[in-house]
Amino acid sequence: MAIRKIATIGHPVLRQVARDLGRDELLSPTWQSFIDDLVETMHDANGAGLAANQIHEPVRICAVHVKDNPRYPYKPNIPLTILVNPVVEPLPGVETFLNYEGCLSVPNLRGEVPRAARVRVRAWDREGRDLDFVAAGLSAGTYQHEVDHLLGTLFVDRVTDTRSLCTWQDFERYHQAAFVARARAIVATYGA
Ligand code: ZN
Repeated sequence: MAIRKIATIGHPVLRQVARDLGRDELLSPTWQSFIDDLVETMHDANGAGLAANQIHEPVRICAVHVKDNPRYPYKPNIPLTILVNPVVEPLPGVETFLNYEGCLSVPNLRGEVPRAARVRVRAWDREGRDLDFVAAGLSAGTYQHEVDHLLGTLFVDRVTDTRSLCTWQDFERYHQAAFVARARAIVATYGA
């Protein structure tokens, strides 16, 4: 296992549309050990998620894991989940909420992004078995953020009010309290 370098905004790999992986390819030692590296790199950087193209491999794999995350202390926990060839769809008629997001590939910047409050997530797990589940609230935002990466989209592309952009320090100083209160309300309404 190895910690890999994380691409930052401006690197073309973040703008590439990642390619699907076949089941046989996924099960090969190359991609299985790549997934180990993806998880190790995400944990090392305290990320809530990490997409393969963020570590310079434009294939449709991402990892999500939230466990008492120090970067996002208000996020509900999500068990370690590997998504291969994921598709995320808003549930019909679902509302959106404003999620204050950050990204390991966009150092020291956060901003408000409208996200669907409930999404259906379909993918394979790392063994190629089907996953199909519904995610809600802040967790739904996390899945949408990661799957966006695989489409070459960064959260800054989706910020509708650029006046919400702020450094991490100023987020903590000026915006975190209001967002955490809103986040609690989002979780109460939609679930995790
Ligand atoms: Zn990101």
